[in-house]
Amino acid sequence: MDKKTMLKVVIVMIVAMAVALLIRGILLHSKNGEQGPVTAEELSFTETELEPKPYSGMIIVIDAGHGGKDPGKVGANGTLEKDINLEIALLLKELLEEDGVTVVMTRQTDTGLYDENSSNKKMQDLKGRLAIIGESRADLVVSIHQNSFSDASVCGPQVFYYEGSKQGESAATLVQNALNTELEIAKPRTQKSNDNYFLLTRCSQIMIIAECGFLSNPDEEKLLNDKTYRQRIAEALRKGIYEYLDTVTEPKEGGQTDPEEPII
Ligand SMILES: [Zn+2]
Repeated sequence: MDKKTMLKVVIVMIVAMAVALLIRGILLHSKNGEQGPVTAEELSFTETELEPKPYSGMIIVIDAGHGGKDPGKVGANGTLEKDINLEIALLLKELLEEDGVTVVMTRQTDTGLYDENSSNKKMQDLKGRLAIIGESRADLVVSIHQNSFSDASVCGPQVFYYEGSKQGESAATLVQNALNTELEIAKPRTQKSNDNYFLLTRCSQIMIIAECGFLSNPDEEKLLNDKTYRQRIAEALRKGIYEYLDTVTEPKEGGQTDPEEPII
């Protein structure tokens, strides 16, 4: 290497070091120094972060029917109702939480709410669900089930509410309509009142029971086993639930249980 080349190399190294020091200086200054004006882009990002979610403060109980030793209805090809209920419940939970809803689940795994040595597991399970619902102060309780019937051709979702509960009827109507339209049900059903389901008659909050489909119908059983269809069910339930929440402007109904009636 001759002197000239050596000089060039030294100059390049000095320039490189100077540039590196300069960049370091700029970085340190920007960290410690005053913050520059916030750009519109940054501001809108901050505002989006702080914006309350549309259903913050709302409480929904999602009750996935059956579980553990109680399979619920068994489908034409062996599908267990408890599994479909839980899958839909978990999808719905995720959707509602995205919009700020506080979701209370009665179960999140394949378990029932009973002790292994209980002499009446079914009753303990139902009472356990009622206890969770009672403590929840929920705006709405959505119990998820699947149906079954002796005639295998019967299909489609149906939503139940406690007879005499105006808010229950309103919620059931909106959820029923959402399921009918979003799932494109050929022969849509209407919501139905009920006065003897254990949970409905003893629930302290506004409650609906969403029977999403018939496991006794092999075609519908197949649909209920399809994740995309279950997602559509969850989205339809969300739509109906939000339409109901949007109508709740008055103070909560006192409850559905007749105080004179002893709770079993
Ligand atoms: Zn059921």
